[in-house]
Amino acid sequence: MRTVLKFGGSSVADLARMKSIAEKLARRQIEGEELVVVVSAMGKTTNQLLSMAREASENPSKREVDMMLATGEQISIALLTMILQEKGVKAVSLTGYQAGILTEGIHTKNKIRDIDPKNIEKYLSEGYIVVVAGFQGFNESGEITTLGRGGSDTTAVALAAKLHCHCEIYTDVDGIYGVDPRLYPRARHMDSITYEEMKEMAFLGAKVMEPRSVDIAQNYGVIIYVGSAHEDKRGTYIQEGEKNVEERSITGLSVLENIMMVTISHLPERSIHTADIFTKLAEEEINVDMISQTPMPDGSVTLSFTASAEDRKLMESVLHEVVDELPGAELTTTTEILKVSVVGSGMRTQSGVAARIFTLFAQNGITFKQVSTSEISISYTMEKKHKEKAVELIADAFSL
Ligand code: ADP
Ligand code: ASP
Ligand code: MG
Repeated sequence: MRTVLKFGGSSVADLARMKSIAEKLARRQIEGEELVVVVSAMGKTTNQLLSMAREASENPSKREVDMMLATGEQISIALLTMILQEKGVKAVSLTGYQAGILTEGIHTKNKIRDIDPKNIEKYLSEGYIVVVAGFQGFNESGEITTLGRGGSDTTAVALAAKLHCHCEIYTDVDGIYGVDPRLYPRARHMDSITYEEMKEMAFLGAKVMEPRSVDIAQNYGVIIYVGSAHEDKRGTYIQEGEKNVEERSITGLSVLENIMMVTISHLPERSIHTADIFTKLAEEEINVDMISQTPMPDGSVTLSFTASAEDRKLMESVLHEVVDELPGAELTTTTEILKVSVVGSGMRTQSGVAARIFTLFAQNGITFKQVSTSEISISYTMEKKHKEKAVELIADAFSL
């Protein structure tokens, strides 16, 4: 039996935690399991590295950011491997490059193109626990790359897909809940959740799983178990689901923070400008969402959309290039917003969810700026001040 296990930053935040993980790994190895262990950078290391980079330069080169961020995971793999070796366990650490993780795309947002598992296979066959640095890889030019925040999940699931095995994600919560338990402590623990719903919840802000990792799991049929790294409690399986006879209309709620809303007003009503704006954003790999275009009485249009606030500086410089050329057009951006979304595949067949939420909001003085829907979700952008109330109202009403 072979398993890929992943331990997130808080689970390897100090040596004591690493020692307790090493203990469990050693036991499983003795039982004959082949183990590939993916680890993240310790605690808040990635954030600290990023803020140092921003102190060093207002707009640091993304190649250098990757160079820097990759060190975080390397500290973890080396330490965990030393601890295992100290226990007499055969173990070896591998960087993304040594693990054969080939990536493509722009620095800091790379995607895994392929994995050459021969090095990992070789060590497994020789009885080693293979400890792989999460979140990093190398590109065709031989540069070190990273996979975007939360990317160790992606590393782990992609390795499990390549090695044809299950993936266990260990973190600081004991599984997936209807709502982030830190936001809504009464949230319902789930024994299992479908890929589809988990993917939607993750894309809409449930940071417990990196969204692309769930996409990979679904495409390759990798079963994921999410559980607590240090507590012995039952976790959650992410897998293809059977249909319940009576499906819930909503399974979960996610909150996406750290977003920005962009509004461009007095844009001449010529679709070429809109096309130009989105082409330029796409070239920078900036994802946008909730696009709306409203015609104004003066014949102009107001265009608005949301995007990740991580991209704020880049976004503003790209948009100014276009907007400054158009007389009268005005650009405003705000980060004082967030997005609350409900997710559930039951919404395909059950109507009335949006109506119920509109009513809840109306009765409780919650105003929202935009609404968008997908087949299995409804999202509302609103001012940050409404977060707690909106979450509680919806979670209570739908028993999440
Ligand atoms: P790691 O460092 O292990 O990758 P993350 O911080 O990325 O951990 O993800 C775990 C966090 O995800 C939890 O601490 C929890 O607050 C948050 N979270 C958000 N939504 C959910 C949810 N629906 N169920 C469980 N945890 C959630
Ligand atoms: N260390 C990286 C991050 O903080 C990757 C990860 O933890 O998954 O985003
Ligand atoms: Mg994470």
